[in-house]
Amino acid sequence: AQLQQLLEQAATGGSAPHAAEARCYDAAELAHAIEAGELVNHYQPKVDFASTLVTGVETLVRWQHPQDGLVYPDRFIALAEEADLIDALMCKVLHTALRDVRQWASRGHGLQVAINVSMDNLQRLDFPDFVERAALDSGVPLSSLVLEVTESHLMKNRQAALDILTRLRLKRIHLSIDDFGTGHSSLVQLRDIPFNELKIDRSFVHGAWRDASLSTILNASLEMARKLGMKAVAEGIEDRADWDYLRQAGCDVAQGWFIARAMPAEQLPAWLQDWERRRAE
Ligand code: C2E
Ligand code: CA
Ligand code: CA
Ligand code: CA
Repeated sequence: AQLQQLLEQAATGGSAPHAAEARCYDAAELAHAIEAGELVNHYQPKVDFASTLVTGVETLVRWQHPQDGLVYPDRFIALAEEADLIDALMCKVLHTALRDVRQWASRGHGLQVAINVSMDNLQRLDFPDFVERAALDSGVPLSSLVLEVTESHLMKNRQAALDILTRLRLKRIHLSIDDFGTGHSSLVQLRDIPFNELKIDRSFVHGAWRDASLSTILNASLEMARKLGMKAVAEGIEDRADWDYLRQAGCDVAQGWFIARAMPAEQLPAWLQDWERRRAE
């Protein structure tokens, strides 16, 4: 029994798991959180490999829970999809992101902003008009907006989603294939959709320099992006070795902890200044 306890302790990093970590949320709680403004946007920079200029930021939502503290999206996005709350969530995230982009622009930082959308968000025919109106209302050009599309395990109507993606592109909104290489990669079959960007999942990025099978997948993905005229973005650049390897492999844009973790909106201007200072050195 003692050994068992020791093994369990080792598995949880030596400490008992925090009560909140084990907790599951239900639809009513999440619906309330969305209404009450408990969702907050954090932003992670994207950096051009060649120039090391910041090209934009990705919006990553968090739940500022009154009891449990900061809750990460892996614990509530699937619930939002299942409970039909994903549109309400997306709506909040989008409006906040547009407001923040405007704020940064007024301080001299013109940035592209990416938001994550689930294929479940691409079921309503008025989605492209909704996004367009939100951008116009906040004075953000549509070309500053990137939608990172992740396939949902639920995915109701594929054809509707394809039509909507095409209409978004016609409005000059940039489209990105998220989590490329994982799970349902049937997005690859969407040759007809002019995706602008391919995001290689971090499971193929971090440590690829010393792993033959990872680097095979990685290089095949990069080649595909090149041939299809898409910009290749690598997420999960965690250290110098990842950076050097992906850069020499011809990847266009880097994202990951080696550059910066996702941060609250108000921290971004200081981070940008600091990055500029380090580039100049
Ligand atoms: P994703 O879109 O693939 O985002 C990348 C995830 O990797 C983020 O986790 C990010 O914080 C984390 N990450 C970034 N750099 C590194 C790194 O160098 N190393 C490691 N180990 N991780 C890194 P996060 O913020 O927990 O988000 C998880 C997922 O939740 C996202 O995966 C995305 O699919 C989903 N998500 C986040 N925000 C939204 C949203 O507003 N709407 C929807 N539908 N999904 C969202
Ligand atoms: Ca993403
Ligand atoms: Ca990913
Ligand atoms: Ca994802």
